[in-house]
Amino acid sequence: MTRKIDIFDTTLRDGEQSPGASMNTEEKLVVARQLLRLNVDVIEAGFPISSPGDFESVRRIAELAGEQAVVCALTRAVEKDIDAAADALKYAKRPRIHTGIGVSPSHMRDKLRITEDECVERAIKCVKYARNYVEDVQFYAEDAGRSDYDFLVRVIQAVVDAGATVVNIPDTTGYSLPEEFGSRIKYLVDNVNGIDRVTISVHCHNDLGMATALSLAGVKNGARQVECTINGLGERAGNTAMEEVVMSIKMHQDELDAHTDINTREFIKASRLVSSITGMNVQANKSIVGANAFAHSSGIHQDGVLKKRDTYEIIDPAEVGAGQSQIVLTARSGHAALKHRLEELGYELNGDALDQVYESFLNLADRKKEVFDEDLESLINEHDREEHALFTLESVQISCGFPLKPTATVTLKNQADQVVTACDFGTGPIDAVYKAVNKIVQVDNELSEFSVQSVTRGIDALGEVTIRVTAPDGEIYTGRGADGDIIVSSTKAYLNALNRLLIDKQERRRA
Ligand SMILES: [Zn+2]
Repeated sequence: MTRKIDIFDTTLRDGEQSPGASMNTEEKLVVARQLLRLNVDVIEAGFPISSPGDFESVRRIAELAGEQAVVCALTRAVEKDIDAAADALKYAKRPRIHTGIGVSPSHMRDKLRITEDECVERAIKCVKYARNYVEDVQFYAEDAGRSDYDFLVRVIQAVVDAGATVVNIPDTTGYSLPEEFGSRIKYLVDNVNGIDRVTISVHCHNDLGMATALSLAGVKNGARQVECTINGLGERAGNTAMEEVVMSIKMHQDELDAHTDINTREFIKASRLVSSITGMNVQANKSIVGANAFAHSSGIHQDGVLKKRDTYEIIDPAEVGAGQSQIVLTARSGHAALKHRLEELGYELNGDALDQVYESFLNLADRKKEVFDEDLESLINEHDREEHALFTLESVQISCGFPLKPTATVTLKNQADQVVTACDFGTGPIDAVYKAVNKIVQVDNELSEFSVQSVTRGIDALGEVTIRVTAPDGEIYTGRGADGDIIVSSTKAYLNALNRLLIDKQERRRA
C-alpha cells in the first residue's frame, strides 16, 4: 500500500484572503459541505482573531464537520490569537490549532524585527501554549522556502520537541524551484530527530506557476500532507490547486508512493461552486476543471479520442465529475422534486427558504423550460445573497435606444423595509442604473471590473454578471447577480457588491 497523503484544504482561509474573494459565514458553510463530500482530511476554516465573522465560521464549520474531518484554525504566534482559536474550536470533535512564525531572514529582520534566537523561543512558546488547549498542533514556518537550511532544521527540531504534531513548510512567496524545494524537505527528514513521529506538510504558492510541482516535490521527498484550495484560489497568483495535486498523485501513485482519499468525482462541482460564490471565474484552459480541459477541436485529436480515449486524454472526464450536467427539472416539477434535487446538490432548504427558492424556480422554468443544475445553484446563491442584504432590489426599469438618452428608474428596499426610488441617466443603460443605485445607497466606490457569463448554454440561459468594486480604502468587493435579463443581473450584482462592502465596514467597526 502506498503512503496516504492528507489533503488539507485552505479555500476558506488562504483562498478567502485573495482580493475580492471574501465569503460570509453561510457561504463558507456551503463550501465546507462540499469539502466534506470531497472527503478532505483537514478543513482550515479561518483565522478567528481576525473578525467576528471568521470566528463564527470556524465555530459552525467545527460543528458541521463532526468526526469526519479535522477542523483547523489559524493564529499568529500570539497568545490572544491562540485563545480565540481555541474558543472557536471549543466544540470541534477533531480540533487543530495552526500557529507559527516567519523564519526567513527577510521575515525575521524586516517584518518581525527579531533575532534567530528570539524566533526559536517564540516558536516553542506558541506551540506549547496551543498544546494546553488541543492535542493536535500544526506549526507553520512562514517563508520557509527562502530560509536558511540549518536554521530551518533548528526551528523544526525545537517545535517537534515542544509537541507539534504537524510541521508546515510553506513556500509562502512561490519562489522556489521544485527540485530545490524537494531537497529542503529531504534535508528536514534527514536532520530533525523524531521527524517520523510528526507529519510534514507543504503549502506552496503559484507565483511562478509551480505550486503543484512544488507540492509534488514535497510529497516525493517525505511530506505527508498537502495544503491546497479549490481552483487554486489564494493570495496573489494563488495556492496549490487541490484538483491538480490530487489528480497528479492519482496518475503517478507508484512513482510517488502516495495516494489520497479524495472523491475526485466531486471536483467539477466544487470548482463551479467556489467560483460562483467568490466571483473568481476559472479560466477555460485551467487544468482538470477548466471548460476546455476535455475539449478536443483539432480533427486529428478528435479522431484519436473517438477511436480510443487515451490517445490524447489522460483523464476520463467522468472521473472528475465532468459532463454530468443534465436537464433535471421543468415547470411541472413539484416542491418535493426540487427539494430532492437540491439535497443531491448539497443544499438543505426547508420552510420559507424552500418556498422562496421554489417560487424563483417556477419563474425561471416558465421562461426557460429546462432547468439545469447550474441554474439551481445560481438560484440558491441568489437567494443567499438576498437574505444577507442591507438593500434589495424591488424593481428596475430602463429606457434606451437610438436616439434616446439611457434612463433608469430603480426602486430598492432597505433593512427597515422602507422603499426608495431614484432615477438617473447615463452613457448606457447599466451606467444609468448604477447612478440611480448610487443616489439611494450612497457609498463611495469605484467599479473596477464588469463581466457577463451565461450559466448554461442557449439563448434563454441565465446571464450571470460578476463585478468588482474598489472602496476608498483600496479593499475590493465582488458582486454577483443572475437573471434572464442582464440589466436585472447587473443591478443585482452591483447591489451585492455594495451590500458586501457595507456589511464588511459594519463588522470592522464592531471588531
Ligand atoms: Zn498561503
